[in-house]
Amino acid sequence: MGDFRLDPDNLNYTIILPKDKSTCKVCSIKEEPAQVLKFDSKQVKIYPIKTEVEPSKFELQGDRFKSSPSHGYEELIVDREKHGDNFSNLSPEDTAKLLSVISDRIIALSDYKIGDNIIITRCLSGHGAFDLHILPIPKFERRGCSVCKDNLNTKDREIYKDENFVIYAKFAPISDLDIVISPIKHLSFEALDEVLLFDLAGLIQRLIKTLNSGDISLVIYESAGRHATVEVLSGCVSAYRFLQINEVNVAPEEAAKKLREKFKI
Ligand SMILES: [Zn+2]
Ligand SMILES: [Zn+2]
Repeated sequence: MGDFRLDPDNLNYTIILPKDKSTCKVCSIKEEPAQVLKFDSKQVKIYPIKTEVEPSKFELQGDRFKSSPSHGYEELIVDREKHGDNFSNLSPEDTAKLLSVISDRIIALSDYKIGDNIIITRCLSGHGAFDLHILPIPKFERRGCSVCKDNLNTKDREIYKDENFVIYAKFAPISDLDIVISPIKHLSFEALDEVLLFDLAGLIQRLIKTLNSGDISLVIYESAGRHATVEVLSGCVSAYRFLQINEVNVAPEEAAKKLREKFKI
C-alpha cells in the first residue's frame, strides 16, 4: 500500500511503496478480471488493484491533501496473455480499439470522482498492458487549458501538424524524448469520436515506428481542463515518474526506528 507525503517547501510529492517491484505486475495477478471485453479474436481484461495508494496518515502538510477527495485507485488493462509487448505491431484499427477502451475507462472512472489525476502508462518493453492510476493529487488549475496554450506555442519543437492533431517535443521534457500528440481543438477523450480516435491511433503508430526503439512508453491523460493528450517518452515511465513523484521503498518512520536503536549503542 502506497503512502503519499508532501514536502511543504517545494511541494514535491513522495510515495512510499514498501514492496518489491522486480516481478511483473501483470504476471503476478492472482484475481479474476472485473471486466472482460472482446478485442477481435482476443480479449481485453480489466483488473482492479485494490489499495494501491492512499494519502498520508501522518502530517497533512499544506492545504493540498485536505482537498484530496480520495484514496487513489489502480487498474491494469491487459490485452496480452503472455509477458512481452507487441503494441508497435498492432494495426491502426486495433490501436484505435484499445484507445477506445482506455477512453471509456477514463469517462467511466471520471464519474466516480475518485481523484483528479487519471494517468495511463504503458512501457512498450513490458507486459502488454495499460497501467491506469487515479492519484489523490490535485491538478494545477490555471486560467485556460495548458494543452491549448502549448499547442499554440510549439515553434521549432513542432514535428507534425494536420487539421486535427499536432505533434511536438515538450517544452520541459522529463525524458530525453518526450513527444506530445494532442488534438488541436480543446477536446476531452469523451469528445473524440471514432474517426479522431482512428487518426490518433495512426499517428501514435507512425511516431513509434519513426522512433524505432523498444524502450519507450506511452502516457495517456487529460489536462486539468480535460484536454485529451498522449505522450510518447523514452524509457519506462510510470505514472509516478510522469507526475515527478519521488518513489521510495522505506518509510521515514521505519528508517528512524532502526537508526534510533543503533544510535543508542
Ligand atoms: Zn508479465
Ligand atoms: Zn485544451
